[in-house]
Amino acid sequence: MSFSEAIKEKVKIRADFTCCWCNDHKQKVEVHHIIPEAASGPDDEDNAAPLCSNCHTLYGGNPDLRKEIRARRDHWYDICLSKLNPQHNWPIGLDVPLLKSFRPIAPQEIFPLGGILLTDELVDNKEKPPILYLAINFKTSRYFWPNVPQNEKWLYLEANMRPAFNLRIQVEVHDTAVKEVMRFLNGDGEGWTLFGALPIIAERLSLPEDRLDLHARDQLELWRENDERRIMISTFTSTNAGMSIHARLSNEVAKALADYLAGTSFISGVDLLSTEK
Ligand SMILES: [Zn+2]
Repeated sequence: MSFSEAIKEKVKIRADFTCCWCNDHKQKVEVHHIIPEAASGPDDEDNAAPLCSNCHTLYGGNPDLRKEIRARRDHWYDICLSKLNPQHNWPIGLDVPLLKSFRPIAPQEIFPLGGILLTDELVDNKEKPPILYLAINFKTSRYFWPNVPQNEKWLYLEANMRPAFNLRIQVEVHDTAVKEVMRFLNGDGEGWTLFGALPIIAERLSLPEDRLDLHARDQLELWRENDERRIMISTFTSTNAGMSIHARLSNEVAKALADYLAGTSFISGVDLLSTEK
């Protein structure tokens, strides 16, 4: 006997088609009997391990390594489960940064209310400086394309990745969106997406429906995945080519961001949380 096609497929998918011993994604994966068929090893999932042909040859036949193969397989399954991102097909092995540190950004002329800086390590950690810096500033007008009425509320976001990658976007703050974002950051709700200039500019320019997608779009997306809060800032060009930065939020950082948003709306003299449009 041998494994059914269904079991083979299930094992390969659980392992993201990757060998559980060497984790080399480029090698074709085979489904190995941990206890061999000759020793009456069953054809069930528990006795199956995803190995590349190299590791199969090197380690598969050694009875002393059966326990090790099983341990590596289970560990690899756990990694796959925690890292595969079904919504965005995030590749395995890519560690999405966890933003777990924050500090206020001092007010500047252009951002009179100041902002908040989120990072994956303490900013002044010389041993291990942050990989991702996400600066969020509140603004009562747009940063890009400023020739519009000044009574709008925007968030200006700037992501810097070490050593030299920079993405800047702006999204408009609406009452409903802010409420939902804060509710999500405080532990409830499914998340929310805030959008940049597209709908408003399109409206102001009186663009026909079929021209709407000819304009660039910024967005800030917040959602829950694998029991964690995730944040993504993206920009899409007129051809829909795009660029995104994706991170996870620690509970402390989520709370700090919610408090920051609450603070900006109150300090600006407009209570976004109690004003319905
Ligand atoms: Zn291998």
